[in-house]
Amino acid sequence: MNLHEYQGKELLSSFGVRIQRGIVAQNADEAVEAAKKLTEETGTGWHVIKAQVHAGGRGKGGGVKLAKNLDEVKSLAGQIIGMDLVTPQTSAEGKRVHQVLVAEDVYYPGDSEPEEYYMSVLLNRSNGRNMIMYSTEGGMDIETVAEETPHLIFTEEIDPATGILPFQARKVAFNLGLSGTAFKEMTRFVTSLYKAYVQSDSSLFEINPVLKTSDDKIMAVDAKVSLDDNALFRHKDLAELRDLREENPIEVEAGEKGLNYVDLDGNVGCMVNGAGLAMATMDLIKQAGGEPANFLDVGGTADAARVEAAFEIILKDPNVKAILINIFGGIVRCDRVAQGVIDAYKNMGNINVPIIVRLQGTNADIAKELIDNSGLAVLSATEFQEAADKVQEVLS
Ligand code: GDP
Ligand code: MN
Repeated sequence: MNLHEYQGKELLSSFGVRIQRGIVAQNADEAVEAAKKLTEETGTGWHVIKAQVHAGGRGKGGGVKLAKNLDEVKSLAGQIIGMDLVTPQTSAEGKRVHQVLVAEDVYYPGDSEPEEYYMSVLLNRSNGRNMIMYSTEGGMDIETVAEETPHLIFTEEIDPATGILPFQARKVAFNLGLSGTAFKEMTRFVTSLYKAYVQSDSSLFEINPVLKTSDDKIMAVDAKVSLDDNALFRHKDLAELRDLREENPIEVEAGEKGLNYVDLDGNVGCMVNGAGLAMATMDLIKQAGGEPANFLDVGGTADAARVEAAFEIILKDPNVKAILINIFGGIVRCDRVAQGVIDAYKNMGNINVPIIVRLQGTNADIAKELIDNSGLAVLSATEFQEAADKVQEVLS
């Protein structure tokens, strides 16, 4: 689960990480109130208005703007809220902006160049250890830095038994070329950042940029926070931060129905039991020349109700031109799944895309008979390859 920048910053701040302070606003008037309050609290004269959407690269897309007075706060907030923000990380249609973060301007005007760094915390899956990845080249795409100047990216691996050790925090500050107050600030920053990552059960923190102000404060100006979904049960407060407007509506509905569904770009809908079989099914569709429209794991109990729910979800995607049902009857009997498919098909009554069903396992032969004798526009297949080939036939 991803957080908005403002939520991520609040999380960091609660662990003692210094952040660029801000207040979230739903409309232009709230933005002005937020700006006034920030001026009272921080003394800032200028404000940055930042679109809150789950996508990076907002600055490049016109979603981060500097306001030099309250009139500009009002007009920029009005402009950004409601826009469809297109960034290098969104689709061509962009993402609708529902709210902005009004933040204090921390790039003090007239001062010497502020320094921007990059810092992320993530899991190194090859050895199962968390690591801190950081660079002097902040404020730009880390992918570009990785490609063009990989020697400017450092990593620090953390032993899970000890957590981050003081010498490691000092090493980070040293490699970033810091000294004096800024050095101390950075050791504190990285230590509390790591603590926040572990204690919130996050799977990714990306702070780009981390800023060194001209008065040697180190702070998070941006915050991308991804929480581990599997640990949300022990962070009820964080789970509540979920913003469904940022997620694919079909995926949200599928989740509510207990279906494991991921929307994809192709035209062959897939209904499969088991994540491994679902992956294999998608591979086979591709190999036969097709493109999967989704990943869908209906789980172990593929009864009529679940099959019907799965049909409904798959058919919400207008790109679906055929559906491949690939079920292995291990726990569930194939004839029950077949009956479920037939019942769901009849109940729904509006399915007008061809359906290919491959059932293997317990009572597969009875299942095939049921499908073949149903009189419905449903094709049966016994072999995996045969099923994928039939999909291609009905599409061509
Ligand atoms: P992103 O484009 O989605 O990564 O959003 P960021 O939060 O990283 O903001 C984009 C850019 O806006 C940053 O790299 C900064 O250069 C700029 N920015 C952010 N905060 C301030 C600020 O307080 N003052 C000024 N002048 N620029 C800022
Ligand atoms: Mn950023």
